Amino acid sequence: MTQTASRTWSEIRPARRSAIPEGLWLRCTSCSKMIYRRQLETHLHVCPECGFHYRVGAEERVRQLADEGSFQALFEGLLPADPLKFRDLKAYPDRLKAEQAKTGRSDAVKAGTCFIKGRSVMLVCLDLTFMMGSMGSVVGEVITRAIEKATADNLPLVIVSGSGGARMQEAGLSLMQMAKTSAALARFDDAGGLFISVLTDPTTGGVTASFAMLGDVIIAEPGALVGFAGPRVIQQTIRQELPEGFQRAEFLLRSGLIDAVAPRASLRSEIARLCDYAGKGM
Ligand SMILES: [Zn+2]
Repeated sequence: MTQTASRTWSEIRPARRSAIPEGLWLRCTSCSKMIYRRQLETHLHVCPECGFHYRVGAEERVRQLADEGSFQALFEGLLPADPLKFRDLKAYPDRLKAEQAKTGRSDAVKAGTCFIKGRSVMLVCLDLTFMMGSMGSVVGEVITRAIEKATADNLPLVIVSGSGGARMQEAGLSLMQMAKTSAALARFDDAGGLFISVLTDPTTGGVTASFAMLGDVIIAEPGALVGFAGPRVIQQTIRQELPEGFQRAEFLLRSGLIDAVAPRASLRSEIARLCDYAGKGM
């Protein structure tokens, strides 16, 4: 396991799955060892040689966490609006269309009910493959609805974060989602709900500054970068050398910011165990 900057799996994976020959070798971006692509997939996209955790999208994440065939998607088809008529290099609606065509989803979140080792949960996964998992009005609304349904149905809530933060293109509307999701979580907490927050590489900005750090239990994957501003910005601001592994999961565990670092292969067991501890293992 190294602490170096990571690259998404999609960056090194050829775009057309069907065109990939069986048994193709790949070089791990972390340890540089040659590994079989299929072996990487059966290892949940974790390098079998060094344990490096590659980034995975929401679709794959649900496949890894939910009991097979149990996931029932909710709150789909919500579409982002562009009230600010925002334009950076591209107009926001054009950027959205391209992301929607690339990922086949309307925005950067996937939510639904499922079983995890037989425990019924509300599962929400941010999708890094869609505009870096950024939180705009749709992501905030889906998360809030998921929290409210988990409150009404007394379900444990699991949110897997992986996000660049609030979505710049929706400006203030994105920032409002921080308050909205946090308020919904406060009501969930008042109702005795269990919220397990799973942080993956990277979890940053307004997502870290709102729901991601409000878990009753906060678990991070090994090596995940978790913070508000990134290390480079902090280093430039305070003009000091940052300690080794700064803002990585293991560092945050030592600092007391998170409760556990759990390898991807143990996440299902960890979640099931926590549900049982909280008396929510229905
Ligand atoms: Zn490796």
